[in-house]
Amino acid sequence: MSKKKLWLLLPAAVFVLIVAVILLLQSGPADRFIIPDHIIVCLDAGHGGSDPGAVFEGRQEKDDNLAVVLAVREALEAHGADNLTVLLTREDDTALGLEERVDFANRNDATLFVSIHRNSGGGQGVETWVSADGHRPETDLATLIQANLKEAYITKDRGVKSGTASNPHASYYVVGNTKMPACLIELGFIDNQWDNMALDGNLELWAQAIADGILQMVKLK
Ligand SMILES: [Zn+2]
Repeated sequence: MSKKKLWLLLPAAVFVLIVAVILLLQSGPADRFIIPDHIIVCLDAGHGGSDPGAVFEGRQEKDDNLAVVLAVREALEAHGADNLTVLLTREDDTALGLEERVDFANRNDATLFVSIHRNSGGGQGVETWVSADGHRPETDLATLIQANLKEAYITKDRGVKSGTASNPHASYYVVGNTKMPACLIELGFIDNQWDNMALDGNLELWAQAIADGILQMVKLK
């Protein structure tokens, strides 16, 4: 290529560079998800100890949450990736504040955060929550998990939602304050017998579905 032609390319190159810089500045760090060499998955069983969460006919949400989290950890570890560590905010029936859960995930520089809860109040099915701003990586994570759960005999797919059940402009504390992509799964309604039967009958399948969503997010599956 002649020197003259190269000079003609210069304005185009400058233009491309400016556009690239503008695009980069527009997408904040929250829009980008870089998979680290070592992946740390933080699983959070909602409630615990003196806080039972939702209760229905003697059944306590905190116990269901913990059973699912332990099964998800087992499924993730069974995958056998040596660059993946699973951390639990609690692994027994202890009380834990919301700030403690968030601090634990942030302090350990977790790659992803998944909180497990059960719904109540007269409804049916499974839904996954992201923060009110619903930035892309956490919506990707929630969408992958919800899609896998849909295939694992949940009674109803209530979809991925942003905000909270009572306020679309607020976020659930653990989702809104963790620094990494985070979501909160409501695994059916504790006051719905069909949801309870589905959970009890498919606990391992549901746990595998959640694990698969996480593994897909970090390209291990
Ligand atoms: Zn809960």
